[in-house]
Amino acid sequence: MVVIMKAGASEEQIEAVASHIEDRGVKIRRIVGEYQSILGIVGDVAPLVAEREQLERLDGVESIVRISKPFKLASREFNPVDTIVSVNGVSIGGKEIVVMAGPCSVESREQVVETAKAVKAAGAKILRGGAYKPRTSPYSFQGMGEEGLRILAEAREITGLPVITEVMDQQMLPIILEYADILQIGARNMQNYTLLRAVGETGHPVLLKRGMMSTLEEMLMSAEYILACGNERVMLCERGIRTFEPYTRNTLDISAVPVLKELSHLPVIVDPSHATGRWNLVAPVTRAAVSAGVDGLIVEVHPQPAKALSDGAQSLTFSNFSEMMTSLPVVAAAVGRRIG
Ligand code: PEP
Ligand code: MN
Repeated sequence: MVVIMKAGASEEQIEAVASHIEDRGVKIRRIVGEYQSILGIVGDVAPLVAEREQLERLDGVESIVRISKPFKLASREFNPVDTIVSVNGVSIGGKEIVVMAGPCSVESREQVVETAKAVKAAGAKILRGGAYKPRTSPYSFQGMGEEGLRILAEAREITGLPVITEVMDQQMLPIILEYADILQIGARNMQNYTLLRAVGETGHPVLLKRGMMSTLEEMLMSAEYILACGNERVMLCERGIRTFEPYTRNTLDISAVPVLKELSHLPVIVDPSHATGRWNLVAPVTRAAVSAGVDGLIVEVHPQPAKALSDGAQSLTFSNFSEMMTSLPVVAAAVGRRIG
């Protein structure tokens, strides 16, 4: 349930309405829009539903709206204003489309520093790199662990790019928090509710990847776990879903972008690398994502994809990445956006 205050409602009126509602044992999240304030009610709203008409008569109240979706805090009904997630001076969710790029896995200091410099020069604003890797086989490279986190931090020091890295379980959260600017929740963990709560408690920016067999509603319910813990800095990432088509690693659900933008106020990111599994499809799919309305992209780039310890087949070389970046501004301009 949300209370929409009148455009000219005074601060005293807003506070009086908020405390009247909080006396019913629920919590209020206040959203300050350009013209109006909105009071989102979190918790058991049943007693308030019965009082709806009285609430509507309180001074300064314009209307009361019930949220029809099972996800509340994540819904656009709750917050019609686009959420902008700020990460060390980089804003995600505004006019500018933010590109995150880097290797699938951190493999060495040279590999990460070299990649960070190259992607920055081509226009990326955030550095990606996995230090702990969720691999299908237990015999595959599992990541460098804390040493990998230190390397990412060093690359940030050198280039100024904030760092995003995956957190696979809550035991590793404290150590990752020492280094990461954005916590990545991988597709395989989208419904790990204990982990979602744990990252929700941190207040740290979170990139939530869609499970490969999850619906958009399930994804928004997962975002709701993080938001319900008081962490509003959540981004949603479409990274392809599993379909019957074997040519690509996954199938990018391009309509997920406008659907998520319609249902939610949270920034939407596309990962064209895991969506396709093939480097030569990354640029065209990225352009499709930009034209569909993404707020950001997360792209795998490696100095020598053929030698990568993970996901080489879908990783762009530096020159492929910079060529792709050059092609994006015209697509972004066509839909009223800019590449950040
Ligand atoms: C990754 O980003 O390298 C990764 C493992 O992604 P996903 O969780 O989408 O498979
Ligand atoms: Mn990968």
